[in-house]
Amino acid sequence: MSQNKPLSVENRPPHFIQQILKKDLEEQRVTGIVTRFPPEPNGYLHIGHAKSICLNFGIAKEFDGVCSLRFDDTNPVKEDEEYVESIKRDVQWLGFQWDGEVKYSSGYFDQLYEWAIYLIKQGKAYICDLSPEQAREYRGTLTEPGRNSPYRDRSVDENLMLFKKMRDGEFDEGQCSLRAKIDMAAANINLRDPVIYRIRKAHHHQTGDKWVIYPSYDFAHGQGDAIEGVTHSICTLEFEDHRPLYDWFIENLPVPSRPRQYEFARLNLNYTVTSKRKLKQLVDEAHVDGWDDPRMPTISGLRRRGFTPASIRNFCEMIGVTRADSIVDVGMLEYSIRDDLNNNAPRAMCVLRPLKLVLTNYAEDQVEQMTAPAHPDRAELGTRSLPFTRELYIDQADFREEANKKYKRLVLGKRVRLRNAYVIEADKTVKNEHGDLLEVHAHIIEDTVGKDPADGVKPKGVIHWVSASHNIECEVRLYDRLFNDESPDSGGKNFLDALNPSSLEIINGCRAEPGLDNAQPDQPFQFEREGYFCLDSKYSQAGKPVFNRTIGLRDTWAKILEQSP
Ligand code: ATP
Ligand code: MG
Repeated sequence: MSQNKPLSVENRPPHFIQQILKKDLEEQRVTGIVTRFPPEPNGYLHIGHAKSICLNFGIAKEFDGVCSLRFDDTNPVKEDEEYVESIKRDVQWLGFQWDGEVKYSSGYFDQLYEWAIYLIKQGKAYICDLSPEQAREYRGTLTEPGRNSPYRDRSVDENLMLFKKMRDGEFDEGQCSLRAKIDMAAANINLRDPVIYRIRKAHHHQTGDKWVIYPSYDFAHGQGDAIEGVTHSICTLEFEDHRPLYDWFIENLPVPSRPRQYEFARLNLNYTVTSKRKLKQLVDEAHVDGWDDPRMPTISGLRRRGFTPASIRNFCEMIGVTRADSIVDVGMLEYSIRDDLNNNAPRAMCVLRPLKLVLTNYAEDQVEQMTAPAHPDRAELGTRSLPFTRELYIDQADFREEANKKYKRLVLGKRVRLRNAYVIEADKTVKNEHGDLLEVHAHIIEDTVGKDPADGVKPKGVIHWVSASHNIECEVRLYDRLFNDESPDSGGKNFLDALNPSSLEIINGCRAEPGLDNAQPDQPFQFEREGYFCLDSKYSQAGKPVFNRTIGLRDTWAKILEQSP
C-alpha cells in the first residue's frame, strides 16, 4: 500500500534535482538557474502538472533563478487558445509568476525551420517519402534493428528543394516528412532517423495559417530550451529515452546555449486518472460537468471544490521529488487540504436537512444575537453574530425520540447544547397523519449561554442550528470520489467502468447562518460538524447560493475501506 501519513517536510535532505543544481552552481557549470514549465495547450492542467509547476518554479526561486512558462504548441490539431488561457490562470492561482512574457514553441518556428535547413546542408537530415505505415515497418523493433529508408541518400540539393516544396504546401499530409539522419541500427529507437518535420494542413492557434509543416515535439523542445537559455530542462521519466536525441540536436545545431535534461517520476494518485486525454473524454462525454467539475483532479476543479493553493503546494512538498515511480494515496491530498482548512477556515453553521425546533418557553418576537468566534483558536479572525429565535432548524439526524447512551444529540426528555447558545430539553414531537415528524418542541434552560445548567444536569452533546426566520436557503453539493477503483486505468481496464455513480449528491433546502450571504468562491468555511465548504462559482445565484463540500471533517473513506469485506 502506498504512503498515507503526512511526512515532515522540514529538515528533509535536498532531493536529487536540488543536489544537481547546487553542484552545477558550485562547479560553475552554470552561472544561474533557468527552468521552464512546458505544457502542451491540449487540455487543462491537473494535479500531476502541479507537481511539475511546484518543482520548476520552486527550485528557480530557491536558487535565485528564473522560470518561464512555455507552451509546447507543435500539434495544432489538438490545441486551443482556451487551454492556453486556463493554464496561465492556473499557474498564477497556484501562486507562481513566470519570468517575462509567456513563451511559445511556435514563436520559434522560423528559427527551427532555419535549423532544419542547416541539418539538411550538413547532410544530417533528408526528405523521406515512406508512408507512415512503411516508416513504422522500416523502424524495426526493440529487438531488431531498423532498415535504412530508400530515400536516405538523397542529395543535399534535392532535399533542400523538396523541403521548400513541403513548406509551400505542394505535398499532401503524410506524403513525405523530414527526418534526421542518425542511425537506423541504434538500440534506442528514438535515434532511428526520427521525423523532425511533418505536414499538417491545420490552422494554428498562434501562427494562424502561416505554416503547413510543423516540427516534432523532440525537434522543438530542446531547441526552445536552448533559445531561452534554460539550464536545467526538467521533465518526467517517460522522456528519459528521448534524452540522447535531445542531446543529439543540441550537439549538431548552432544553438546559443547547452541545456541539459533531467527526469523525475511523475505523480500518480490512486482513485484518480491524470491523463489529459482521459480527462478530456470525461468532459466531452459529459460524465462530469466540464474541466472544472469539483470532482475532477484538474487545478480548476480542485479550485472550484475549495482546495487552496497552499494546500496543493504543501501536498507537492510532502510527496517529494524522486526518480522512483510510485502511487501516492489520494488521502494525502485530502490530508493536506483538511490540515490547511482546519487552521484557516472560519466556522459557520449550516443545517443540511432541516427539522423545525420550537422553543416553547421563548418569546415569539424575541431575537437574541449570540456571539461566536469565527475560529476557535484564532481570536484575530473576529466574531460572528447568530440570531437566536423561538423557532430554529436543527438537522434531522440530530434528533431521536429514543436512543441509547451512545447517541449524544437531542432525545425526548433529554438535554443537548445548541452550539454557541442555550442548553435545551426536548418535550414532545408534532407529526402529521402519516406519522411523519414535523416539529420538535423543547424548552430552553435559562441562563445557560456559555454556562452549565444550575441544576447540575449537563447535556451530553452539542448540536448546530440556525434560526428558522433568519437564515439563508442554499443548496449543498456533497462529493465522493469520482472512481470506485483504486487504479481505474491500469492493466487495460476501461476507466469509465470504474466511475462512481454516487460521486455527487445534491441537497436542496439547506439553511445557513445569515452571515454566509456574502460568501465568495475561493473563501473556505468549516460548516461545524459537517465539513469544509466553499461557494460554488458556477451555479450560485443571488439569493440562492450553492456550497460545495471540499472535504469532510474526518477521513471517513479509510473507515469505509476497513469495514468492507
Ligand atoms: P498527459 O500525458 O496527461 O497528456 P503531458 O505530460 O503530455 O500530460 P504536458 O502538457 O506535456 O502534459 O505536461 C507539461 C509538463 O508537466 C511536462 O514537463 C510533464 O512532464 C509534466 N507532467 C505532466 N504530467 C505529470 C505528472 N503526472 N506528474 C508530474 N509531472 C507531470
Ligand atoms: Mg506531454
